[in-house]
Amino acid sequence: MAADSLILASARSATRALFDLLMPPACMACKAPVATPISFCGDCYAALKPISGARCLQCAVPLPLKWQTETHCLGCLSEPPRFDRTAAPFLYDGPTRQLVLAFKNGREAYAAPMAAAMLRAAPGWAGPETLVSAVPLHRWRLASRGYNQALVLARAIASATGAPLDPELLLRVKATRSTRGLTRPQRQRNVQGAFRLADGAKDRISGRDILLIDDVMTSGATASAAAGVLKRGGAARVSVLVHARVAATDMAPYVEGARSQDDHGQS
Ligand SMILES: [Zn+2]
Ligand SMILES: [Zn+2]
Repeated sequence: MAADSLILASARSATRALFDLLMPPACMACKAPVATPISFCGDCYAALKPISGARCLQCAVPLPLKWQTETHCLGCLSEPPRFDRTAAPFLYDGPTRQLVLAFKNGREAYAAPMAAAMLRAAPGWAGPETLVSAVPLHRWRLASRGYNQALVLARAIASATGAPLDPELLLRVKATRSTRGLTRPQRQRNVQGAFRLADGAKDRISGRDILLIDDVMTSGATASAAAGVLKRGGAARVSVLVHARVAATDMAPYVEGARSQDDHGQS
């Protein structure tokens, strides 16, 4: 990122922090007044949709209630993603969606509670032997947003667990377009060649257990492309940990509360 956009980004973040100090605490999702800073109001808390039932062992998409046992979803069975497993505490819906969008738009202070929820969904996934990293943004998007929200979460996860953080394993070399409205094969084409391994990263990932962090998993195509690069570079295992999982569109008829369209867009 250019020095001037870095300065601009830190000025924005300092202004935001000052603003937050002066304003009464607001719900992380709907902005209603709350007693405790960095919390949900009662209504939003009650409307959260934790992923608590049966889910896909590989991509964490909720499975039909009647399946009961954990197995692979149809998408992962027909076209296995390159990552080994995924955990996500919440469905990308309602207050979680509002929270993630606010976080993406500058509410960096939400990272700590988001990371805590993520870690509860992935017990034992981050330890001293794990290498934590984040799905990178393309530099144009980084310059316009000021920070990579996935990296902010990765940093919070590393500091909460003591797992080492390697923020620069991957480079996003292709500015992918918004994934909104794309079909699964289109999403895969969209992210093809989007990532490459950073210079010297091969030595750091060889035989390692990588925990790749992102805010939201939509189809899994982005995480799969990133994991593919890490696997080809010699990583032993790639686990993906996100805060929210979009209920897959191809599961929509089977999953209660599934969204029929996803409006997450490119992360
Ligand atoms: Zn609320
Ligand atoms: Zn799956």
